[in-house]
Amino acid sequence: MADLPDPDCIFCKIVTRDIPATVVRETDRTLAFRDINPQAPTHVLVVPKAHYPNAATLAAADPELAAALLTEAAEVAADEKIAESGYRLIFNTGAAAGQTVYHAHVHVLGGQAFHEGLV
Ligand code: 5GP
Ligand code: ZN
Repeated sequence: MADLPDPDCIFCKIVTRDIPATVVRETDRTLAFRDINPQAPTHVLVVPKAHYPNAATLAAADPELAAALLTEAAEVAADEKIAESGYRLIFNTGAAAGQTVYHAHVHVLGGQAFHEGLV
């Protein structure tokens, strides 16, 4: 699966800083930035800098990088002071799941209680 930048991909453009975003963490291979339309008090997206269309293709091609997303998501939770209270990690995969941006990303959602179940 191609990992080259996709000129039509909005998250590739955020990675290259062609589109602005509120970046909260960065490593050599990952970037974390605030979701433009937050669904919780803390809503951060963690992406690989390389382009993969979803978590499954990322994990198949580069398991180490897939794991790095989880490590960074945990660091975001700690930075945002939601590690103790709890948070959700969500990888939407495919249209029926509501995936709208086809560049792998994990949502870090917290700062509130999620009592209503998964859907
Ligand atoms: P998906 O539904 O694909 O899992 O989530 C994509 C997320 O990307 C949505 O929550 C949406 O609000 C967010 N998003 C879309 N475009 C932009 C953008 O230009 N900047 C930022 N920061 N977030 C975006
Ligand atoms: Zn991309």
